[in-house]
Amino acid sequence: MSDKIYRVNMSNLSFKIEDVPQDWMGLGGRGLTSTIVAAEVDPECHPLGPNNKMVFAPGLLSGTSAANSGRNSLGAKSPLTGGIKESNVGGTIAGVMAKLGVKALIIEGMPEDDSTFYHIHVTKEHIEIERVPELVGKDNYFVLDSMLEKYDKKVAVMSIGRPGEMKMLISNISVKDPKGKLRSHGRGGLGAVMGSKKIKCITVDAEKFNEASASIVDMEKFKAASKVFTKALKDNPISGEGLPAFGTNVLVNIINEAGGLPTRNFRSGYSDNAENICGETMAENIKARGGSTTHGCHAGCVIQCSQTYNDKEGKYLTSGFEYEMIWAFGANLGIRDLDQIAKIDALMDDLGLDAIETGVTLGLAVDAGLIEFGDGDRAYEILKYEVSKGTHLGRIIGSGAGNLGKLYGLVRVPVVKNQSIPAYEPRAIKGQGVTYVTTPMGADHTAGYAVATNILNSGGHVDPLKKEGQVELARNLQIASAAVDSTGMCIFVAFPALDEPACLPALIDMINARFGTTLSIDDVMNLGKTILKTEHEFNLNAGLTKHDDRIPEFMKYEALPPHNVTWDFTNEEIDAFWDF
Ligand code: SF4
Repeated sequence: MSDKIYRVNMSNLSFKIEDVPQDWMGLGGRGLTSTIVAAEVDPECHPLGPNNKMVFAPGLLSGTSAANSGRNSLGAKSPLTGGIKESNVGGTIAGVMAKLGVKALIIEGMPEDDSTFYHIHVTKEHIEIERVPELVGKDNYFVLDSMLEKYDKKVAVMSIGRPGEMKMLISNISVKDPKGKLRSHGRGGLGAVMGSKKIKCITVDAEKFNEASASIVDMEKFKAASKVFTKALKDNPISGEGLPAFGTNVLVNIINEAGGLPTRNFRSGYSDNAENICGETMAENIKARGGSTTHGCHAGCVIQCSQTYNDKEGKYLTSGFEYEMIWAFGANLGIRDLDQIAKIDALMDDLGLDAIETGVTLGLAVDAGLIEFGDGDRAYEILKYEVSKGTHLGRIIGSGAGNLGKLYGLVRVPVVKNQSIPAYEPRAIKGQGVTYVTTPMGADHTAGYAVATNILNSGGHVDPLKKEGQVELARNLQIASAAVDSTGMCIFVAFPALDEPACLPALIDMINARFGTTLSIDDVMNLGKTILKTEHEFNLNAGLTKHDDRIPEFMKYEALPPHNVTWDFTNEEIDAFWDF
């Protein structure tokens, strides 16, 4: 069975199934989405207009038994940054698409009649597009339940909540995970792009195809490499011990001790609230209340950094309770009660809101006088009764931190390319800061996770407080990440890939065994370079310049406690990032 490109045109509600062009054959995940967006989307188009496209693509190894390979990429022009965006997610979608032979699902155009929303249902070589007025104004769990009632329980589901319908820039696209909970295609306002195309949900049918696996040319070689790869993931102390025990939230204490935990809208790198919200406290609560500390966001995950978090009565509260969410609401907005943050997390899953963009916007809203630090009740109310209903205040919060800062005349606005800075302070973890300013994605920690080498001593050590070596570090990590994002692997394979010598060759062996290719490490790194340059060129053609590769000015003159560090890179040092 050869893979195909599935293409939906929302302008005339039609579809086509196409052969994969030769140039796209060896691409998957981010490599494919960024290549298609660069080839088919006018960089100057309005991201919420008819000429933007959404491109969904499973990774090269998605749908196989390779550990941690179930990530799905989504590419488009971002309405938040104005540049190219790739967002990848776990859940069931990548595996189902890969097994069905969907190399990419491209959605273009926009319906002339915008009075309702549509449901796209993908099956083997067929796509149905139907009006779903009964789902308009509903949120993600209602939509998910409706789809699970209609189809086989294994159907893959992606949907938007009311903020996505209203094209808010803090909206995500939600994706069903193996336990029927939600994960997110986050960052960049991609829920708004789906809303602009009047698509409420997309389902991919898992019932009518052979579920065995995506095709593999040399199964014996694949199995041997897969075994080595899985062992490397399990042997590494971060992916094999820290993440399974405490989830990503293991980072709260580590980053706080390093003085890099953004606190009270980036006023300090140290929070006195860490003990209340850290991974250790979370794990104690989970164990005492009968939750689960380990859970995979997709089938085949051997790290299992996710979890199920119950309330004091032992009733399910939320899952996929990540470090970024807990940092944004616990340290940056100052909410001291982990249960209250979990309640907000569950609400945000249902509404389809981005944890980082929403949390940073609310942190900034304190400076605008709209909320006080630590007021979890008010944060919940704003999201539940203002954002979800699209009131004036809801629209302001829903437009993201950069826009709220402009509306209220604020100077301390922590964004790069209009996208909120995530959970690692760029002044105190400078390699991460270089990634924020240079990645074509806008401030994004996953694009080149320098925390690994700055703080966790993975792949060596570069002093986080000094600028020496950081540009080179961020460049190498971004090239590697662009390549890894094309395989369907999750970000946490980076730790064993950096430290376990057998890990990266085994990953490449699996790709070669699947496709019958002879790629070397150099070939894969060259792929990463090509992806980055393609994305950078798209942004330049969209009107972004090197002047957009800059940290917010206040970080240059405001020293960050406890290390009292500022952002001290020259523009020339940052611009040298692209010399490769
Ligand atoms: S390690 Fe975490 S993010 Fe990665 S696949 Fe597993 S659950 Fe998902």
